[in-house]
Amino acid sequence: MSVAMPGPKAEILARRGEIAKALSRIVPGEGVITDPDGMRPFETDGLTAYRQMPMIVVLPETVEQVQRVLRYCYDNEIRVVPRGSGTSLSGGALPLADGVLLVMSRFNKVLEVDFENRAAVVQPGVTNLAITRAVEHRGFYYAPDPSSQIACSIGGNVAENSGGVHCLKYGLTTNNVLGLEMVLITGEIIRLGGKHLDSEGYDFLGLMTGSEGLLGVVTEVTVRILRSPETARALLLGFPTNEDAGRCVGDIIGAGIIPGGMEMMDSLAIQAAEDFVHAGYPLDVEALLIVELDGPGEEVHELIERVEAIARDNNAANIRVSQSEEERANFWAGRKAAFPAVGRISPDYYCMDGTIPRKALPKVLHRMKEMETEFDLRVANVFHAGDGNLHPLILYDANDSDQLERAEAFGSAILKLCVEVGGVLTGEHGVGVEKRDLMGEMFNEADLAQQERVKCAFDARQLLNPGKVFPELHQCAELSRMHVHKGQLPFPDIPRF
Ligand SMILES: Cc1cc2nc3c(=O)[nH]c(=O)nc-3n(C[C@H](O)[C@H](O)[C@H](O)COP(=O)(O)OP(=O)(O)OC[C@H]3O[C@@H](n4cnc5c(N)ncnc54)[C@H](O)[C@@H]3O)c2cc1C
Repeated sequence: MSVAMPGPKAEILARRGEIAKALSRIVPGEGVITDPDGMRPFETDGLTAYRQMPMIVVLPETVEQVQRVLRYCYDNEIRVVPRGSGTSLSGGALPLADGVLLVMSRFNKVLEVDFENRAAVVQPGVTNLAITRAVEHRGFYYAPDPSSQIACSIGGNVAENSGGVHCLKYGLTTNNVLGLEMVLITGEIIRLGGKHLDSEGYDFLGLMTGSEGLLGVVTEVTVRILRSPETARALLLGFPTNEDAGRCVGDIIGAGIIPGGMEMMDSLAIQAAEDFVHAGYPLDVEALLIVELDGPGEEVHELIERVEAIARDNNAANIRVSQSEEERANFWAGRKAAFPAVGRISPDYYCMDGTIPRKALPKVLHRMKEMETEFDLRVANVFHAGDGNLHPLILYDANDSDQLERAEAFGSAILKLCVEVGGVLTGEHGVGVEKRDLMGEMFNEADLAQQERVKCAFDARQLLNPGKVFPELHQCAELSRMHVHKGQLPFPDIPRF
């Protein structure tokens, strides 16, 4: 696949050797990589269809080094792409040919655990799961749990506002981050929020969460930690149609029940997961719901009965309730391994991420089935049903350019459908380069220009992660007086993707 990125600046490329030397003085030892073999692992992220070798890779270890690297790049007008663990599925960490790739993986320490304030202060390169590992001995955990949690960094989670199974009840990253330290492109440090529960002034913490590396580099994160629930039990519900399962999701929420997690898989995903991990999933159903209920034992018991009744009303053909921790883990094993399981049945898959109002689930699932015929490609659905956050996996073969084009067109059609039914282009994977050119489906020019003005307030030279999120690259001076008349943009010579 190809995606248009800001063209490399010849004058920067010509100074590569000199720039590498200057950066090596700031980050000595093995902190600067320039040889192609050393940089190869960084040429792509989780969206592997897009690749680009960076100009230079820098791995700082201290906040002061981050400050000095950014200040140097600012003074010399060098573009910078921040990177955590490189698991982004939207190409957020895709390098630029004339850019410095600033890899934050050496910031891997848990700095403080404060049980009294129910908070942990960590460096951005700490993996999501490592936070729970650091607090679980006292019965606590960090709630947002992306499937990639063993590898993805908390800095990346903040930048993408990542979600996971437990976010239906406990909120996305944005609801679980209490404070941030960030370095701006000028090298200045700002601190936002903290262990206290409310912040003064504008909600900059909310603004930064989900800002995809475009506004600053996160160097410290304070997260909320929660008490692990007393009891957690899961139901495995099989349905004859996707529509039945979709309706059941809406009915459960409509009844005032907020499960700890509510995930859905369609028949292709069920089959693939079962073949891979043998979780005991029923194979004669079209759709499977895994509904987890957590809390005090008695409450969970009552909720299980209510969910069972709702499932029966929606034609559930198969109902199982976990009777032990082992069985609960087994119910989840297939869901957690669903992506790699689908990877076993197709040479390639394209993972989409859109969010719709829950009520639209049956309609969207039905329409997607029709699209399978239109685009002549199969789709496996594995997703956070409770949040209405879809993850259709479009199966294709990247060696066949026609299939590849159809997969991209199919993906765009799904995201447009999400917007059409009142949803949004992304749920948790971010916009990156993947959905950048679809932003116009959701936002009008005035919306986008206003969002870019926010970007300009933090990065007037457009050096941080340019080419991501915004479908057009404006100069900030241009934006400050941009009037769009009948769709005619001023400054037609400025690159637009
Ligand atoms: C198998 C698989 C399953 C996944 N499942 C989920 C899931 O369930 N839920 C979910 O939400 N996501 C999921 N993802 C996507 C991905 O793991 C998340 O987006 C994750 O938050 C990315 O973290 P990272 O450290 O890998 O960031 P990277 O990929 O390195 O970067 C992602 C973005 O964050 C920016 N960034 C990274 N670090 C910093 C920093 N310190 N300061 C400023 N900006 C920074 C980058 O510029 C980029 O824009 C999955 C990915 C894979 C491969």
